[in-house]
Amino acid sequence: MSEPSLYHVSKEWKRTHRCGEVRKNDVNTDVTLAGWVKKVREFGELTFVDLWDRTGMVQLVFDSQDSELNSLAKSLKAEDVIACKGRIRNRPSDMINRDMKTGEVEIYIGSFVIFNRSKVPPFVVSDKGKANEDLRLKYRYLDLRRDSMQKNLRLRHDIAMTVRFFLSKHGFLEIETPMLVKRTPEGARDYLVPSRLQAGKFYALPQSPQLYKQMLMVSGVDRYFQLARCMRDEDLRADRQPEHTQIDIEMSFISEDDIIDLSEKLMKKIFSEVCGVELDIPFPRISYKTAMADFGTDKPDIGIGLEIHDCTDIFRATGFRAFSSIIAEGGVVRGISYEDGYGLSKSQIKKLEKTAREKGAKGLVWLKVDGGVNSPIEAFLSDDEIAGLKREFGLDEGQKSLILLVAGNFEISTAVLGAIRKSVVISKTQDKNNEYHFVWVNKFPLFFESGEGGMEPAHHIFSIPLEEDLELLDKNPLKVRGHLYDLVCNGVELGSGSIRVHNRKLQERLLSLIGIDRQNAGEKFGFLLEAFEYGAPPHGGIALGLDRLAMIMGGGDSIREYIAFPKTQNAVSLMDGAPSRVEEEVLRELHIRISKKETEK
Ligand code: ASP
Repeated sequence: MSEPSLYHVSKEWKRTHRCGEVRKNDVNTDVTLAGWVKKVREFGELTFVDLWDRTGMVQLVFDSQDSELNSLAKSLKAEDVIACKGRIRNRPSDMINRDMKTGEVEIYIGSFVIFNRSKVPPFVVSDKGKANEDLRLKYRYLDLRRDSMQKNLRLRHDIAMTVRFFLSKHGFLEIETPMLVKRTPEGARDYLVPSRLQAGKFYALPQSPQLYKQMLMVSGVDRYFQLARCMRDEDLRADRQPEHTQIDIEMSFISEDDIIDLSEKLMKKIFSEVCGVELDIPFPRISYKTAMADFGTDKPDIGIGLEIHDCTDIFRATGFRAFSSIIAEGGVVRGISYEDGYGLSKSQIKKLEKTAREKGAKGLVWLKVDGGVNSPIEAFLSDDEIAGLKREFGLDEGQKSLILLVAGNFEISTAVLGAIRKSVVISKTQDKNNEYHFVWVNKFPLFFESGEGGMEPAHHIFSIPLEEDLELLDKNPLKVRGHLYDLVCNGVELGSGSIRVHNRKLQERLLSLIGIDRQNAGEKFGFLLEAFEYGAPPHGGIALGLDRLAMIMGGGDSIREYIAFPKTQNAVSLMDGAPSRVEEEVLRELHIRISKKETEK
């Protein structure tokens, strides 16, 4: 027995068991274990050490009769890494710990070796400790030693393996597409990589393998998948990272239904295998238009209720001027009935009013209904109108609810009620466990208006219009819907996909609608357009976010908890310090000069 040695990775110290695996049945077995020290307790003549590896924790006992052994054991500190040999024995009955998988036994140690001592860690490496996230990210290797993070890594692994087995069984080939690609903008900003050999030229890191997977369909691959890394230089939010992983899928000779059907089966398999939850498939499908009308968002949490209702007809003859004047101008009165909101205080309702004004409403009308009505506009409402509202929202006589109404144009009422619904939904979902409400949102418009008066693709420019809307393409392109579908779970967009264009002419036409003329199209997407002229089959696909899926299944709030080495909101890796400055000489080789202004920052 000695202080840390570099040369103990020998057969002698090869593990026979993992820490979390020893059980009562193994009593009297001699074992060799290795792992990290979590706690050292002295108890009379004995020293107890909790030893951890990723399978769990086990208690080691050092007897004082061997004073050298015992004193070395006493010198152990949290996060020292050791191997030990000993015999499994039953714990005395009053020492049994029912909270531990190994709590009925302990290891009576005969010898041990210290592989490495640990400095005092910057935070307690345990789920009981609370450390700030920046510190956790800086010392991510310690953070990942916590059971909850090990569980998250495992969850992600289990999902990935299930995906691979399932898709392979269904005839898909896993194919890697390049990381250094041509810059073909897909909506977000690109990460660029300077070329050393081609001065002044840049590769882009892929925002997704979109064009490559389409090429693979032209190649006759028929069914492709990849757990694809996608890099997007976006401003980050809780569910965004500069690099994320998606389950990227593409299929040939299929319809929208086929992709939806396959994705549902895949989800069912993942939830069943990984967490024993049996999802009901098929998932409901609603159009983008219905999603916006009923939920005020294209990512509806349909499990919450709180659908938006149009109440305009109830107020056609109203004496309440704020409503009648808006209705006379062709506006609408829409609202939600929020039963749990009945108990909200005046100041809580004021917060909702503030949200409404921020989203462009002139005001938010609220009514607390029960046997009677309590509302600032009570005096202006007729009995018929109140009865009409109760009927519209399906409220029984005496049933309590907070009805929130917004008058204005359709878009504003949608934005306001969607935002209110979202603020309420977030607090409601937090109480929920193991409830997954999936919904497909489809028939998205192919284009949205872009800020500069032009149009931008709702998804990406490679999606095909619905057949019945094709004739609108020239006259009224904003009215054209596409074969686009998003999979949403509990209000989180889990994935999106589309049936693609596979015809050069149509692709060029779509590109021209977003201001990319033929010449420009040729420069940017020439390879794709050319490939379409060599027998491109009809095809389509989807990409499902692996990080988000893990977050939903794990019940977390942030995808950072499900990524081994994530970046901060400023796209910085606190552990290794990326991005970092590089030497002048390296830059020179890459034909890059940093402007003086930048280096002074
Ligand atoms: N490439 C698309 C994306 O990353 C997904 C797809 O259309 O398959 O959003």
